[in-house]
Amino acid sequence: MARTKTKANPYQQHEDALRQKQHQLLDSYERDKAAGNAQPDDGIQDLADKAASAYSKELNFSLSDAERNLLMMIDEAFNRMKEGTYAICTNCGATIGEKRLQAVPWTPFCIDCQELQEKGLL
Ligand SMILES: [Zn+2]
Repeated sequence: MARTKTKANPYQQHEDALRQKQHQLLDSYERDKAAGNAQPDDGIQDLADKAASAYSKELNFSLSDAERNLLMMIDEAFNRMKEGTYAICTNCGATIGEKRLQAVPWTPFCIDCQELQEKGLL
């Protein structure tokens, strides 16, 4: 693959992972939306059936709150990369471990702050 960037991003691997996850979320959303509207393979349906199944597909396949949340966190992670604050805990300023970034590249918190947040203490 040709690389056009001159400056190496130390977090390239995480950036790729973030993009992949972002596309995954957006793709399945777009695909499901299209499936809800188009229904190309269902053969002959009357209009009422079509409308009903489109409606329920829209409901079933809309992004969940968790997915929307994740997209937001991915967005924020990209922003932190741009600002050079990626891999720094947004709460306490500690460096977020490499292993943790590999598992959850969109995380804004170090493991300690994540625990606090999960306990509702943050
Ligand atoms: Zn922290």
